[in-house]
Amino acid sequence: MEEVGTGLLDRLDAMQRVAASAPGGPLLIVAGPGTGKTRTLTHRIAYLCAELNVFPEHCLAITFTRRAAEELRHRLDSLLGPVAEDVTVGTFHALGLTILRENADAAGLPADFRIADDAERAAARSEAGDDQTGYIALLRKQDLVDLDELVSLPVELLQADRELVGRYRDRWRWIFVDEYQDVDAVQYELLRLLSPADGNLCAIGDPDQAIYSFRGADVGYFLRFSEDFADARLVRLNRNYRSSAPILAAAVQAIAPSSLVRGRRLDPARLDPEAPLVGRYPAASVAEEADFVVRTVDELVGGLSHRSLDSGRIDGRSTSLSFSDIAVLYRTDAQAAPIVDALARANIPVQKRSHDRLRDRPGVAAIARELRHANGLAGSLAARVRLAGQVVAERFAVPTLDGTVAGRPEDVRSAVELLTPLARRCGDDLETFLSQLATGAEVDALDPRAEAVTLLTLHAAKGLEFPVVFLVGAEDGLLPLRWPGSTPDEDAVAEERRLFFVGLTRAQDRLYVSHAARRTRHGVERDSDPSPFLGVIDPGLFERFGETEPRRPRDRQLRLI
Ligand code: ATP
Ligand code: MG
Repeated sequence: MEEVGTGLLDRLDAMQRVAASAPGGPLLIVAGPGTGKTRTLTHRIAYLCAELNVFPEHCLAITFTRRAAEELRHRLDSLLGPVAEDVTVGTFHALGLTILRENADAAGLPADFRIADDAERAAARSEAGDDQTGYIALLRKQDLVDLDELVSLPVELLQADRELVGRYRDRWRWIFVDEYQDVDAVQYELLRLLSPADGNLCAIGDPDQAIYSFRGADVGYFLRFSEDFADARLVRLNRNYRSSAPILAAAVQAIAPSSLVRGRRLDPARLDPEAPLVGRYPAASVAEEADFVVRTVDELVGGLSHRSLDSGRIDGRSTSLSFSDIAVLYRTDAQAAPIVDALARANIPVQKRSHDRLRDRPGVAAIARELRHANGLAGSLAARVRLAGQVVAERFAVPTLDGTVAGRPEDVRSAVELLTPLARRCGDDLETFLSQLATGAEVDALDPRAEAVTLLTLHAAKGLEFPVVFLVGAEDGLLPLRWPGSTPDEDAVAEERRLFFVGLTRAQDRLYVSHAARRTRHGVERDSDPSPFLGVIDPGLFERFGETEPRRPRDRQLRLI
C-alpha cells in the first residue's frame, strides 16, 4: 500500500493536484491523451477518503469497459489499501445490474432473473419478429432481461420512485465517471437521476477522443456539462507524460481541424532532444507495408538471428526493446491478416485483440447453463467449469435420434481455455461469474506482459500506451473510412480524425505511419492515396523511409484541411 497522507498528492503535477483536491460539487476534468486521467481520478478518490473523511462506501466510480474498471480497482487498492473494497467500481452495465438486483420486485422481476444469452435473444427475436415489446414479453416469460435493459430499467425505476432516488443519492454521494465523452442518452439519464444538479459528480474525459458515436455515444453531454450541472468547476490537464515531443506535435496538428476543445493545448513533459521523428513509409503495396513492419520490428528487437538478446540497434543506437513494447494499429480488422502473416513468417510472436464477447463463443452458453443447473458440483469455480465442459462435450458427442448433433465437443473444450481465467478472477462466486459473462466479458487474450507484438484496431487501442506504435493503412478511404464512391459527411470525417488522433497518441517513443499505394478493398484492388489527415502535419516532423514516392493527398470531397 502506498503511503497516504500529506504526500499523497506529491506524485501529481500542479494541475493534477488542483483536480484531485478540488472541493465537492460538479467537477469536469478536460484532459487530453497521456495527461494522467486515471492517475488523477484515483488520487482524487484516495485524497477525499484519506484527507477529507469521505467514506469509501459513499463513492461510486464508473467506467465503460471491464478492463478499465479492473485497472481503477487495482490502482485504488494500492493507494487506499483494504478500504478501497468499499468503493463501488464498475461499468454502467454492472451498476445497472446492482440496482436491478436490489429492486427486482419493484421492477417486476423475480429475484433470480438472468440476462439473456445470445441464443435466448436470437430465439426471442425470431419469434417476436419486429414486435419489440413482444420480444421483451417473451424474455420475461423466461425470467430474462435483455442486456440493453440493464441501464434502461433502472432509469425507469428511478424515474417512477423519487424515494428510491433519494436512497441511492444518499448511498453514493460522490460519483466519478471516466471517459465521460462516451456517455449515451440512457447512461446520462441514469447519472442525472443518481446525482443532483449540484451533486459531487466528477466527470473526466477528452472530447477529442470521442469515437463511439456509432454506438449512440454523444459527446454533446460532455460539452454541455456546465449547463447541466450547476456551478460546475472546470480543470484542464495539458501536460502530456506519454509521448515524445515530435509524436505529440504531430498528434496535436492532426486533431487541430476538428478539435472540440477550445484552445486545446498539450505540452510535452518529455523533451529529449534525441527523440526520433515520426517515421513515414509510403509502400507500393500491402505486402511491402507488411514487410516494412516486419523489418523494423526485427531491427528494433535485435535481429532474427540473435533474438535472445533483447536489444536491437537502430540508427547505431541500442534500443532495448522487446516484442511486448510494440503495437500495430489499423482502422479495420481486415487489415490485420497480411501483417499477422508476415510477422508469423518471420517467427515474430503476435497477439491480436479480439472484440468478441465471451458469451458469443460456441459452447460458452451451454457451459454456463450447465453450471447453473448443476449447483451441486464440488470444487473451485475453475474446476466446476472444467467439469461442466466435460459433461456438455460428452452430451454433444452423442448424436440425437434424428442424427444431428447439438454442438461440437471441440468448441466446448476451447470454451473451457477461454472461461477459466474469468472463473479464477471471480473466486468461487458463481453469480459474479455468470453476470460478468452476461454483461460482456471479452474473449480478450490480450496479455500486456506477453512477449508478443500486439495487433489492435484503433478503437480497441483507446486508453493504452506502447513504446513503439505502427499505424498502418493511413490511406484515404481507410482514414477516413468510406465505401468506394461514397462521400462521408463532415461529422463522420471528424470522428475518423479523432480516431486517427487516438492512434497517434498511443505511442510513447517511436511512431511509424505507413500507407500502401494499392490495396484490395471489397474484393477489388485499386489505387489509394495517403490519408488527407497526414496533410496537416508539418513534413518536418516526419522521417521518410522507403523508395516509393507517395502521391499528394487529394482531399477533394473532404475539403477539411
Ligand atoms: P488517455 O486519454 O490516452 O487514456 P490518460 O490521460 O488516461 O490518457 P494515463 O494513461 O493515465 O493518461 O497517463 C499517461 C502516462 O503518463 C502514464 O504512463 C502515466 O503513468 C504517466 N503520468 C501521468 N501523470 C504523471 C505525473 N504527474 N508524473 C509522471 N508520470 C505521469
Ligand atoms: Mg486513460
